Amino acid sequence: MNKKHVSIKSYIITSLMILLGISHIAIFFASFFLVRDRLKSNMLVSVQNEMGAIIERLVKYGYEACQDDGRVSYLADETASRYGGRVMIVSRDYEIIKDTSRDQTGAYIISRNIMDVMTGELQDKVSMDNSVIRIIRPVRDEYGITGVVVVTASLMMIYSNLYKQFALIGAVILIVFALDILIIVRISKGTVNDLDNINEQMTHAVQGNLQERLSDQRFSETQHFAESFNEILSRLSSIDQTRSEFVSNVSHELKTPITSMKVLAESITENEGADVEDYKEFMSDIVEEIDRETKIINDLLTLVKTDSQGNDLNFEEADVNEMMETIIKTVSPLAARRSISLEYESFKEVMAEIDKVKLSLAISNLVENAVKYNIDSGWIKCSLNADNKFFYVKVADSGVGIPEDAKDKVFDKFYRVDKARSRDTGGTGLGLSITRSIINSHRGTIKLYSESGKGTTFTVRIPLRQDRSKIQTVAENTVIEEKADEKTANA
Ligand code: ADP
Repeated sequence: MNKKHVSIKSYIITSLMILLGISHIAIFFASFFLVRDRLKSNMLVSVQNEMGAIIERLVKYGYEACQDDGRVSYLADETASRYGGRVMIVSRDYEIIKDTSRDQTGAYIISRNIMDVMTGELQDKVSMDNSVIRIIRPVRDEYGITGVVVVTASLMMIYSNLYKQFALIGAVILIVFALDILIIVRISKGTVNDLDNINEQMTHAVQGNLQERLSDQRFSETQHFAESFNEILSRLSSIDQTRSEFVSNVSHELKTPITSMKVLAESITENEGADVEDYKEFMSDIVEEIDRETKIINDLLTLVKTDSQGNDLNFEEADVNEMMETIIKTVSPLAARRSISLEYESFKEVMAEIDKVKLSLAISNLVENAVKYNIDSGWIKCSLNADNKFFYVKVADSGVGIPEDAKDKVFDKFYRVDKARSRDTGGTGLGLSITRSIINSHRGTIKLYSESGKGTTFTVRIPLRQDRSKIQTVAENTVIEEKADEKTANA
């Protein structure tokens, strides 16, 4: 199933907008309710104060002062109009002595709350809802409760002010929110700018442009990413270069025997008076060239197979001594032909986890080279030793040696110090590459000590046990190997 991808930019913008939107709304309403409650309680206090003043006058001037123009009546009217409400003064026998609004003066009022206050059961009855505050308080003189005062105050006045103020605050918050969005869009653009650059560069690389490099980035994370990406690009272009060099070397090496064959064939066909003996000689030369071509192709196939680290290796517990003895036995006739002494010394019985076939090939290459690049009647000394982690194979010879400047190159594909000598001895320049590749895939190392004209020593170190988790497949090599396999299959 295709996963739907969101862009980082819209993700940042949406998330921050939701976050800021929620927090702005929360702050707006929290402050609204806080201010409203504060205003309500302030109003309650001031209504209670006004009530206190009315009661004080009632006690002082008596209920007669409630008549029109009386001292109490005047105060009650003022209080009612100030709070947009109503003031009622009720006598002990529940008669309304004064009513500031709908004139119910002279009527009787009996309600649960008024009775509770009148009888002294309740000190003060305060009730408050969203629109009004209602307080019932007793009028008390030295003889007891003589009546009650009921004040109703409207909250609408403070509400209308509150709404106006908060409409203004809301507008300001909306403007701030709009500015926030602008800033968020800018920030998110800035954040993904680096990524956009990197993305564009990657698209170029995918299309094959490996030369461009990512410039300095704004953020440390993207800078780190860009550095790694540049590193990958460098490696890719170096692999690309190595591959081109390899292909051009391979073509050149494969062309040489074919050119020789062509020259041989042309010269025999152009030679009118050639007899059977001449033909035989030319044909045997052509066969030699075909053998050379075959050897190069075989070595190339071996190389691409062994180049894929850890891939295709068949590790098994094997007797390394036995392997060494077989190699020595095989190479001995070659050495004997040039009176070269070939000695082998084993310091220990060594059992190790190796791919015996491939490692035999690697060590054989070293011993064969020791013969090929030796002087007549020279010597070769091979040895095997081990500690508790590794085994060591040493192949030393008294041959021509390797010049200082060639030591690094002898492991390169097709590199030969002396092309003519290598060719005469049937070399392809791939032997040491194959050897190193096999040793690498055993997680081993190979070292070379040599002095021109005196001799060469190769030392190989290989772990006795293989840790499979560390044997990794190199993608590039795998590709070469797959192609090589295809070719073999097609052949
Ligand atoms: P080749 O098929 O030419 O022997 P190798 O990869 O085995 O290719 O070796 C590369 C080159 O390293 C050889 O051509 C040779 O010049 C040099 N070389 C390898 N082994 C020795 C040795 N034991 N003594 C001197 N030179 C050597």
